[in-house]
Amino acid sequence: MIYLDNAATTKPLQFFIDDCSNFLENRWLNPSAIYKSAVEVKNMVEETRELAQKSLGNKYNCYFTSCGTESANLAIFGSLPENVRGRRVITSSVEHPCVYNCFKELERRGADVVYLRTNEFGIVDFEDFKNKLTSNTALISIMHVNNITGGINDINMMYEYARNKCPGAVFHSDGVQGYLKTGIIPKCHIYTASGHKINALKGIGMIFVKKGFKFNGKLYGGGQEKGLRSGTENTLGIYSLNHAINFWMNNINDNIQHMARLQKAFLKEISQLEGVVLNSPMGGAPHILNLSFIGVGGEILLHSLEADGICVSTGSACSSRKKDPRISNALGFDKARAESQLRISFTHDTNEEEVIFAAKRIAAICREHRILMRRKRK
Ligand code: PLP
Repeated sequence: MIYLDNAATTKPLQFFIDDCSNFLENRWLNPSAIYKSAVEVKNMVEETRELAQKSLGNKYNCYFTSCGTESANLAIFGSLPENVRGRRVITSSVEHPCVYNCFKELERRGADVVYLRTNEFGIVDFEDFKNKLTSNTALISIMHVNNITGGINDINMMYEYARNKCPGAVFHSDGVQGYLKTGIIPKCHIYTASGHKINALKGIGMIFVKKGFKFNGKLYGGGQEKGLRSGTENTLGIYSLNHAINFWMNNINDNIQHMARLQKAFLKEISQLEGVVLNSPMGGAPHILNLSFIGVGGEILLHSLEADGICVSTGSACSSRKKDPRISNALGFDKARAESQLRISFTHDTNEEEVIFAAKRIAAICREHRILMRRKRK
């Protein structure tokens, strides 16, 4: 299989897989217990927490959750009072459903919700942001890297601006696609991330809370995760994160450069084909490339590639089963561009031959399909 859908999920690291049964056999105890072997598990959890904190320059406290979605929900609802009626809350029109649907719920509860416009790459219009930011804004949630296009928002600039204009506003950023993929350490109050996008397991997420920032959100229960997120810890997931964060932190520049080279190689190969629109910005996240192959349905392309053993996506994994035009509409795509989209995404061990093979197959399928369609029309 040639797997080019790494924005949907990534394969756990091989050395974690090799180590897994040893962990399950020997370190399955509850980290809250106080006998020695359980304390060793607790130590592993704490070591991973420290590692996660180090990965963002020790500017945040890290708490483990079950996924990026839970982290975002906790960040958003935990930053606001029970009664949100009339409160201004700001997000972008191209957020992942885990943020967008929270804002839809806030709208239902009577909050004054603002959806900022973006450019065609999903990057928030800074002028619109400045204009919509009122001194009584309670919450801002802007994704770091867009999961469809790979567009990178300048979170640090927006955070600094917001801090000056409305010091009372909480700034959250969904970092699920940005965490350890851009080389930028984000500045905000709350940054949320997910294990399975960095070659750890599914079912483990992180919420990073800026040191010194008082965050009231919590899950009530046994008081695990310093009282913020009760529930017995997913220790295997945390162990997988330990491997993954170590790996990505130690190889971040090499990994970014490698994926950027893959993007270049793909674009060079596909440049021979006509009717291609690049939906990802130059200088975007290195692991995401989105293109439209005008006249060829994204799903037709996806299934033809599948027959060759190549896995890609037409959009985000969560929405690929539902036909939701929200993002394409917000990006301003016309029907032809929206329906012929393909997202190709890489990780550290994707190799150039795979990428070039995929580009060649895409070009061949497009040419065949276009000839067929021309014949049909005659
Ligand atoms: N945010 C973004 C930008 C994503 O791409 C995703 C998943 O694709 C999520 C949030 C949700 O993360 P999780 O699957 O860990 O809940």
